[in-house]
Amino acid sequence: MRNYQVIARRWRPKSFNEVVGQKHVVETLRRAIKTGKIAHAYLFSGPRGVGKTSIARIFAKALNCVNGPTEEPCLTCPNCVEIDKGVFPDVIEMDAASNRGIDEIRELRDNVRLFPIKGKYKVYIIDEVHMLTEQAFNALLKTLEEPPHFVVFLFATTSARKIPNTILSRCVRFDFKPLTLDEAVSILASICNNEGVEYEGRALEIIAKVAEGSLRDAEMLLEQVIAYSGGRIDEANTREALGMVDALVVEEFVKAVLSRDLRYSLDLLDNYVIRRGYDIGTFTMGLLDYVRNGLKKSGLEGKVEDAVKFYTLFRAFVKIAEEIRRHPYPEMLFEAEIVRLTTLPPLENISKLMKLVESDVDILQEVSKVESGEKPPTSKLQDFLNELKGKYSWMGVIENALIVDSNSITIKGAVLSDIYRDMIRKKLKEMMEVASNYGFTLIFDESGVESKELERLQEEKPKLSLREQVRENPLVKRILALFPEATIVDVKNSKRRIS
Ligand SMILES: [Zn+2]
Repeated sequence: MRNYQVIARRWRPKSFNEVVGQKHVVETLRRAIKTGKIAHAYLFSGPRGVGKTSIARIFAKALNCVNGPTEEPCLTCPNCVEIDKGVFPDVIEMDAASNRGIDEIRELRDNVRLFPIKGKYKVYIIDEVHMLTEQAFNALLKTLEEPPHFVVFLFATTSARKIPNTILSRCVRFDFKPLTLDEAVSILASICNNEGVEYEGRALEIIAKVAEGSLRDAEMLLEQVIAYSGGRIDEANTREALGMVDALVVEEFVKAVLSRDLRYSLDLLDNYVIRRGYDIGTFTMGLLDYVRNGLKKSGLEGKVEDAVKFYTLFRAFVKIAEEIRRHPYPEMLFEAEIVRLTTLPPLENISKLMKLVESDVDILQEVSKVESGEKPPTSKLQDFLNELKGKYSWMGVIENALIVDSNSITIKGAVLSDIYRDMIRKKLKEMMEVASNYGFTLIFDESGVESKELERLQEEKPKLSLREQVRENPLVKRILALFPEATIVDVKNSKRRIS
């Protein structure tokens, strides 16, 4: 059986031309060579498997090729060949993760001033440099302070913030980016073509997605899928090889949830996912992928109702995916969320809300009674509210109830789709115009509030108590019951909001 490393090793880029992605890094390094402005230390920072050490080796060849320094190392001279094999004496590779570099750095300190043996430059490639001990960093720093003119350090790290500033300040830094989906797919396709492997585009997309921007992971997964499928890779055997639930089960499951069939959803979950030992997180990602495609398709085809359904489900699965990641019992949480999704009243039914609110004038009276004792509104405000009441029954009732207690309110997440948001925005715009006739400014803050801001609000005690008051308001309670996703983000005193 072939080793997983084989593909990754065989298709490692050997020259700048072969590097896919990281264009900003490659261009800058090329320019440095062209202009002869070569720094003594470079830091390559970024996630694993995105080409940091590959580019470091190419740079080492560019410096030490017999034609070098050159942007295009020849790859055939003895120096290039030896660097590719890892036996060139002037390119020294260290992995700081393996033994934290104590001996190596000591050796480095002793030998760094000796001239290169074969090449023009002595290149030290130190991988996972953040793992070095404090002493090793100190030894390194001494060398970096007065480096011999022929020495170039190439540091690679997945965690630049763990590197002392004294070292960082002496490096030219490059931040490597995760590969985009298209970049990863194009590399996988060219590997398949070169290896004579037949493939379905969708299979490569799945592999690239699972690899999450790491080329090395993508190549390892490809190797795994090729080994499993025996030559021709398609969506089905890719899913099987990667331990992903069958596409048909994913589709059935989404349909079951959309049609609110709790029994069937749980049945599928139990028999086809949990009992077969599939990872619930991977399953959720599969659901997200399916729902996202459904949303896009129905959007493009102008099927508004479907789009709303898919959107609601998409938001729900995003939330589930986030929560199960840190939950001790992810399957239980997933199950509970499915029960909620299939049994609670449809969230998207705004016309129901409108009818309900319209028929609830008694609630309005009640709210007015309860709240008017606290801060009696000015007559001007009362007039304004009366006009709103007459003009916009349902929105008026909501806003009225909120303003009568001398507060305005922002409900985040209450509007579940952009379609409805537009409708409400239109109503609000009209209301704002009415307000301006009375000299008031009405603000409805629909923008998302960062969680940091939420925390800050919670720390502010007076606001908290106001929030609690509002939460106790019967109408607000009803709104929150209708929109379980909604949270009260902010409550503001009308003296500030309406001026
Ligand atoms: Zn060469």
